[in-house]
Amino acid sequence: MQSHAGRTSVCGCRIFHLHTKLKQKCTLDRMGSIISCTYSTNPDEKRKNWWDIYHRKRQKVEEIADIAEVKPNGIFANNETCLKGITVYGFDYDYTLASYKKSLHGLLYNLGRSSLIHKYRYPDEISKLEFDIDAAVRGLHYDIRKGLLMKLDSFHNIQLGTVYRGLTQVPDREVIALYDGTHVSLEDMNTFYGTGPMYQLVDLFAPPEMNLLINVTENMCSMMSGDAGMRYMIGDDWMDLFEVVITNARKPKFFNEASRIAVKTQGNFSLFRQMTGWYGSKVLYFGDHVYSDLADPSLKHGWRTGAIIPELESEIIKANSKNYTSAVRWLNIIQDLIEDIQSDDSPEAVAIKEEWLKERQDLRNFTKALFNPKFGSIFRTYHNPTYFSRRLARFADIYMSNVVNLLEYSVEHTFYPRRMALPHEPHEPYICV
Ligand SMILES: [Mg+2]
Repeated sequence: MQSHAGRTSVCGCRIFHLHTKLKQKCTLDRMGSIISCTYSTNPDEKRKNWWDIYHRKRQKVEEIADIAEVKPNGIFANNETCLKGITVYGFDYDYTLASYKKSLHGLLYNLGRSSLIHKYRYPDEISKLEFDIDAAVRGLHYDIRKGLLMKLDSFHNIQLGTVYRGLTQVPDREVIALYDGTHVSLEDMNTFYGTGPMYQLVDLFAPPEMNLLINVTENMCSMMSGDAGMRYMIGDDWMDLFEVVITNARKPKFFNEASRIAVKTQGNFSLFRQMTGWYGSKVLYFGDHVYSDLADPSLKHGWRTGAIIPELESEIIKANSKNYTSAVRWLNIIQDLIEDIQSDDSPEAVAIKEEWLKERQDLRNFTKALFNPKFGSIFRTYHNPTYFSRRLARFADIYMSNVVNLLEYSVEHTFYPRRMALPHEPHEPYICV
């Protein structure tokens, strides 16, 4: 590196950054590090230099060989797990030992819907609402107080674009107004076991439950919006009489808050342990519910745990596709480019950065939609792990799509977690030009 320039921030801390002007025309070594730079005042040349780097990286990324595919029926380790040391294997029943046909979800949906109508006196109109297997993915949160379904990442951030009131996507600005941003505070989150005001739909019986919630909310919203009443009183073209129609205004806040934007059976673990003498790391217990099956065995009793995540198989098949791997590879590179170009505050660089941010957003939307058009993968919110994913990493030593995947491994096999560089550790640059 030729030189750094320093400046003093308002808090008095001495901070250093690569001088903007030095980065305009840089020579890079084989590893992609800058070894010398010269400064150009020509705007056309500045613009050309950034696009040169972009195109060279683009060319390089296309030359990289395809990465090895991941086995959809593999077993994946969060924590080193040696089967040789396991003397007891335990299994949950539903969705661990017993798998169910997809048609079960439709049946559960119909039973739940029927119960709402006949037992809880919901309107007969909801009998017309049918189950849609793609309506939601596991791990979403339902805000009981606001009636919104959404996806959260591991830092409790709402992923904009994944918040739904019934079948209707809630505009980003309304989400930001409702939550004073996109972060959900710890107090508003669910409890350790996944229940609370932000109820997480986490087990494998959740899809019909979520679908029923979505459809009933949609039905209720349409009834409560006033649309039905206005059509009854005035006719189908009642909106023609108004220039502005505001729904869900939540008066009187609407009028008073300036900042709002309108828009053996039973027993217990202790007895069981006394009876069997099974304790700690001798036991490997499998379950599909990350909280109720795995959290206590792992955290309180030191058992080793295996999570059964049926969605894993189809997600791996999609993640193995050329479309996905190419998009993610370029997504990582363009994110690096965006980080680099921030040090150049020339108008040309600012304009290029906007173009790259748009390209990054397009790539993010594309990779998300490969899994589920509304909510994406159950494991990621863009680059972050989902809330579900982070908890899976905490409570499960290993995870797999089906318990029968174990048949592929010897009883002395050791599962090793992949070592990933932490943000502060040296790591190979993703691509060098
Ligand atoms: Mg179960």
